[in-house]
Amino acid sequence: MGSVYGGIEAGGTKFVCAVGTGPDDLRAITQFATTTPANTIAQAIDFFRQHRGGDRPVAVGIGSFGPVDPNPASPTFGFITTTPKPGWANSDFAGTIQRALGVPVGFDTDVNAAALGEHQWGSAQGLDNFIYLTIGTGIGGGALVNGELLHGLIHPEMGHIFVPHNREVDPFEGSCPYHGDCLEGLASGPAIEKRWRKRGEDLPADHPAWELEAKYLALALANYTGILSPQRIILGGGVMQQPGLLALIRRHTQQFLNDYVHAREIQDEIERHIVSPALGKRAGVLGAIALARQVAK
Ligand code: ADP
Ligand code: ZN
Repeated sequence: MGSVYGGIEAGGTKFVCAVGTGPDDLRAITQFATTTPANTIAQAIDFFRQHRGGDRPVAVGIGSFGPVDPNPASPTFGFITTTPKPGWANSDFAGTIQRALGVPVGFDTDVNAAALGEHQWGSAQGLDNFIYLTIGTGIGGGALVNGELLHGLIHPEMGHIFVPHNREVDPFEGSCPYHGDCLEGLASGPAIEKRWRKRGEDLPADHPAWELEAKYLALALANYTGILSPQRIILGGGVMQQPGLLALIRRHTQQFLNDYVHAREIQDEIERHIVSPALGKRAGVLGAIALARQVAK
């Protein structure tokens, strides 16, 4: 009988925890609201403790909202660091789980974990260089670069980049508490809601919101393409549920790149280059299981 792993997708609104070995073998899954760190982390620990014998995870992976410290050599490894979310700044997330369960704990950003899951089982199998983005309550991105998850100084913050913002076309000042009109401030779900005074899911498909949204995201994708040269771009998150948005983003990305990047993937096969996560809503928690598999002895 093989080993079983635990995964935690830790979001600012909810936690998803699962036990299993992969997408075809999820033995248990649960979710609950993100409240205080003490309370929420205790619920995750209780969930894993319920599993006995062969279903007891031999390692746990955590893909977390952040900013986080994902550097195993750092004294604050596994901490959520500077988040504005009340109570969670400077909290020892991975350490608390590790001490309670006595198993190795893998820890990374939510989007790096999702990227790893998509690499193992989803839309990025066999690729060494790709990015995974979520467009939801926030915007974030994870990257595999030469086969390794990219961390760099701390970890990428792909949502907090700056794209051209023409205030005559779009007078909205942006919703990011740190930067105003960074990409997240212009194109996240809450930015859409604040600009148009309606949630994305309540705006019709022919609303001008989507053309603007697609342009901001396509500008970002053109920038990531220029910097990282990804072999594929995976777009997840609630905003991408909007029918038609993916097709608009593909078209605008091609237009911004303007045939300068000579690749069949961009010029002729954009439908296979800018894609949805194959693991869908499970990308995060399966990615956390993939992180657990990496640290299991
Ligand atoms: P989180 O980022 O908290 O994990 P989601 O990825 O589900 O959550 O993103 C939530 C955001 O997605 C909300 O701002 C919501 O308004 C937006 N959203 C959900 N469904 C749609 C839709 N069909 N079209 C556009 N936006 C949507
Ligand atoms: Zn920002």
